[in-house]
Amino acid sequence: MTAKLIDGNLVAALVRDQIRNDVRDWVGQGNRPPFLQVVQVGNDPASSTYIRAKTRACEDVGIETATAHLPDTVSALELKQQIQGFNESDAVDGILVQLPLPDHLSQHDVIESIDYRKDVDGFHPMNVGRLAVDQPTFRSCTPAGILELFRHYSIPTKSKHAVVVGASNIVGSPMAIILSRENASGKATTTICHKYTRDITRHTIDADILIVAAGQPGLIKAEMVKEGVVVIDVGINRIADETSEKGYRLVGDCDFEGLKEKASWITPVPGGVGPMTVAMLMKNTLLAAKHSIYPR
Ligand code: NAD
Repeated sequence: MTAKLIDGNLVAALVRDQIRNDVRDWVGQGNRPPFLQVVQVGNDPASSTYIRAKTRACEDVGIETATAHLPDTVSALELKQQIQGFNESDAVDGILVQLPLPDHLSQHDVIESIDYRKDVDGFHPMNVGRLAVDQPTFRSCTPAGILELFRHYSIPTKSKHAVVVGASNIVGSPMAIILSRENASGKATTTICHKYTRDITRHTIDADILIVAAGQPGLIKAEMVKEGVVVIDVGINRIADETSEKGYRLVGDCDFEGLKEKASWITPVPGGVGPMTVAMLMKNTLLAAKHSIYPR
């Protein structure tokens, strides 16, 4: 079998078109444009790249943005005071604190200091908790983007065995929660693997849908899956490459060349899940501006 390609650039462009129209209508009704406040701590180059991509994409659909850039020496108190100002500002709809944070700052404390009604990343415990009990919520952007890919390509999850490799708070764990719920986005029998799983092949070989978010290039190989599996590769890893101008290239967690001979559907890296994550951030920001999740 040669897998069909899941084109994240294409689906993200469709989502962006829809958001652009919705923003135009919203502003046409006399509302101000949605506003996303980004907070960056320090100068991590990968974080700067992600922020540029997110803010450009937002502005492209009519969502306004600003980035508060704080030094990596900022104290927890100073950072939380900044966030509190954004929580209280009527001009701010969504707040995104770019992760990772420097070691002296607690990611949990900082995320919890964001008003959950402005938590467009969907990382606040209130939003994660509501996700777990099927209440309207800001869904974490990467899992939400993967659901949108399933919807676009009519890939069913009902009664499938979904295996999620990676159990982080931002990707693997919310993905597994969503797939395991008995609602329209889930109904899958769900297995979650992590670095303490003894033999991941025992699980991956039985997957109808395999979602990999481990940050380990080449982790999943063709002999670890069955024919016809749907492969969603979330991993983004920089691999040294002297032939590239940048000196590196991006690869996922899966052996794409091997897996594409066995899978029914597969996402490339780049151009698979990545663009969907950004598109879902815009969608959440528009929902926040409209108070759709938490009516006031
Ligand atoms: P993380 O480091 O927070 O978590 C990694 C998870 O993978 C952990 O649960 C760990 O136990 C598990 N793991 C690590 N090695 C493993 C192994 N050998 N076998 C099984 N499980 C293993 O990572 P994260 O933030 O969830 O990101 C994971 C990957 O996804 C990274 O490459 C990241 O860059 C990428 N990512 C991509 C997007 C996107 O939009 N495409 C968004 C977020 C993260």
